[in-house]
Amino acid sequence: MSKRQFEKSRIVIVGGGAGGLELATRLGDKYGRKGKLEITLIEQNRTYVWKPKLHEIAAGSMDIGAHEVDYLAQSYWHGFRYRVGEMIGIDRDRRQVQVAPHLDAEGREVTPKRTFDYDVLVLAVGSQNNDFGTPGVADHAMKLETQADARLFHERMVNACIRAHAQSSPLGVHQLKVAIVGAGATGVELAAELQRTTHEVVAYGLDQVDPQKDIRITLIEAAERVLPALPERVSKETEKLLARLGIEVLVGAKVAEVGADRVSLTDGRTIPAELIVWAAGVKAPDFLQDIAGLETNRINQLVVRPTLQTTRDAGIFAIGDCAACSWGERGNVPPRAQAAHQQAAHLFCQLPRFLQGKPLDAYRYRDFGSLVSLGEFSAVGSILGALIGSNLVFEGMFARMMYLSLYKMHEYALHGLVKVTLNTLARLINRRTEPHVKLH
Ligand SMILES: Cc1cc2nc3c(=O)[nH]c(=O)nc-3n(C[C@H](O)[C@H](O)[C@H](O)COP(=O)(O)OP(=O)(O)OC[C@H]3O[C@@H](n4cnc5c(N)ncnc54)[C@H](O)[C@@H]3O)c2cc1C
Repeated sequence: MSKRQFEKSRIVIVGGGAGGLELATRLGDKYGRKGKLEITLIEQNRTYVWKPKLHEIAAGSMDIGAHEVDYLAQSYWHGFRYRVGEMIGIDRDRRQVQVAPHLDAEGREVTPKRTFDYDVLVLAVGSQNNDFGTPGVADHAMKLETQADARLFHERMVNACIRAHAQSSPLGVHQLKVAIVGAGATGVELAAELQRTTHEVVAYGLDQVDPQKDIRITLIEAAERVLPALPERVSKETEKLLARLGIEVLVGAKVAEVGADRVSLTDGRTIPAELIVWAAGVKAPDFLQDIAGLETNRINQLVVRPTLQTTRDAGIFAIGDCAACSWGERGNVPPRAQAAHQQAAHLFCQLPRFLQGKPLDAYRYRDFGSLVSLGEFSAVGSILGALIGSNLVFEGMFARMMYLSLYKMHEYALHGLVKVTLNTLARLINRRTEPHVKLH
């Protein structure tokens, strides 16, 4: 490809999440601002929040306004175009992405059905909950995939606390019960965060509720231990910490059905609950199934080569949770923010090479371990696995600091040092003047 053709090239990225937004920002900074490449991000939402923070929004310990990124402003500052809308199809012959009409809350059309031409397409559309066909999940369980889900959960949690307060008799009969299905990182983090924030909400004057007696959080896991994807030592430490927090953990417990006010297990037990959250596994979005004849696996992920190009079209790449990328004998690269981040960094270097007709390097996943947050003062996890060949298990304040630094690194990739420092200071000041938990 000549220099002139390279400079005209259009890179379209669909999905502005952990992987897609970092990629658009970095490509925009280096090539978009100077007009060397045309970078377009197509995203169905207007604002972005890092998904691993959703459990904190749900529990009310994080103010979403202080952390959300406005896509339009980000695109303006970083040299890429942002187009709001939901991708509904791809025409591989014409090299076009089809985007559905975008409607406002009252159903009025904001943008019509549109198509976008590309020379290179990157799909980074993430994942969604997998209920494995369990009856009642769609109707009765909440999920934690989007900002809207997290906000809805928070509202219901505060309402449940107020209801428990209003209905308590002097004998204290009303309880607030939460059941979380799935003790992976999302379920464990939500349980720990909720334990703390429900106690805080109650402390703001809901004195008819006795937090020790009236709040019950149950974590239900089908595997024989919590955090089944992490090393066994991490699970053991986590179970000890959850017990200390007063969270009930049921392992080897398979869910048969979810009802409006209960979770039924296959062994006949019933767990009563006002709030039920389903956090038991993910799959790529259903619309990817057979999209434009691209190869997908049984959980709808796009199968990619080691270069992250889809197997049936070298001009279409996939990254993050929606990509099935081999990790050798260990199966596929796990659906984690660190994988999405690494793959975005890899494509940042490789896409210009692709456009210049140069051979591409293979992507290799480097596992730096996993950290799971257990509330304000503690975290647990294994780190440095890729560096020293074995896992070191950490717990407590140090692990918590490591956990927080992951988010800072992501923010740094999006905003740079000055803005991250100023934002951090602003949040510290706000924390001194506002309640530590969101009360509405
Ligand atoms: C509650 C929770 C806690 C988590 N905690 C951790 C953690 O502690 N550590 C960790 O490593 N990982 C964690 N994860 C997983 C991590 O968030 C994901 O692995 C990561 O976000 C994947 O990045 P991604 O870019 O592939 O997708 P996402 O970040 O999910 O972004 C996908 C984007 O695509 C957009 N999109 C989807 N479909 C379309 C469409 N048709 N058209 C246009 N746009 C579309 C979505 O709106 C979204 O913005 C957690 C996930 C959750 C839900």
